Amino acid sequence: MGDYEEVYPRLSTVYGPVESWRLGRSLGIDLLFVNSICSFRCVYCQLGKINVHTAKRGEFVPTRQVIADLHKSDWRSADVVTFSGSGEPTLAKNLGEAIRAARAITGKEIVVLTNAAHLNDEEVVADLSLADRVFCKLDASDEASFRRINRPVEGITLESVVEGIEKFRDSYKGFLAIQSMYRPYTDAQFESLCEILKDIRPDEVQINTPTRAIPRAWFIEARGNYDETPYPAITPRKVPPEDVEDLRSLLESATGLNVVSR
Ligand code: SF4
Repeated sequence: MGDYEEVYPRLSTVYGPVESWRLGRSLGIDLLFVNSICSFRCVYCQLGKINVHTAKRGEFVPTRQVIADLHKSDWRSADVVTFSGSGEPTLAKNLGEAIRAARAITGKEIVVLTNAAHLNDEEVVADLSLADRVFCKLDASDEASFRRINRPVEGITLESVVEGIEKFRDSYKGFLAIQSMYRPYTDAQFESLCEILKDIRPDEVQINTPTRAIPRAWFIEARGNYDETPYPAITPRKVPPEDVEDLRSLLESATGLNVVSR
């Protein structure tokens, strides 16, 4: 363990518990940890900046470090354990191993928040299948909006993401939610979103709104609910609650799915 304790002496791969509108008290596990690492660069990303823009899986922090950090954490006061952190958790090759370890230590429900860009990879699917709940990001229903909002690495398309989620839905036994950041839709985009959602058949659709500041650069505390940012930050424009409710109820009646919003 020496290496990590020497290089990151005051930092932990485990953070929180933080309050989450969908999960209650959520204990975060960060398997990216050494940097901000993701295959997307979403325009609203609270991490501020994705320093490593990649679709390549790797082991960024050893599972033994996560186990040591979990033992030192306040896991008993958490409702759930959530894999999210400093980027895209499915890029961590030891995701499955870490899920098993977190369940063995805490006995809590395990949730993974994913950008859903890697569900065509069988190893990712096998890892995610170990979670009790998987929340997949889907912010767009056309390729141009997908590229503008999520800014994926080369080779990831909206079609590949949707295809991966649909396939995952067919085999996954746990609770599958689609998380979508609020945005205005044209009629054609809305229709197309409804078709995609009806094909996926998630257990729930969650409409999020941007609430946290977007710092100019990454710092590790950005993975949780931090009080102050060491960098200048952009405060996102507040979306009127009635606009969110309009989208929620329209989506619910057009798809017949359970749609919730914060
Ligand atoms: S998928 Fe998540 S971590 Fe990656 S850029 Fe988007 S919001 Fe940030």
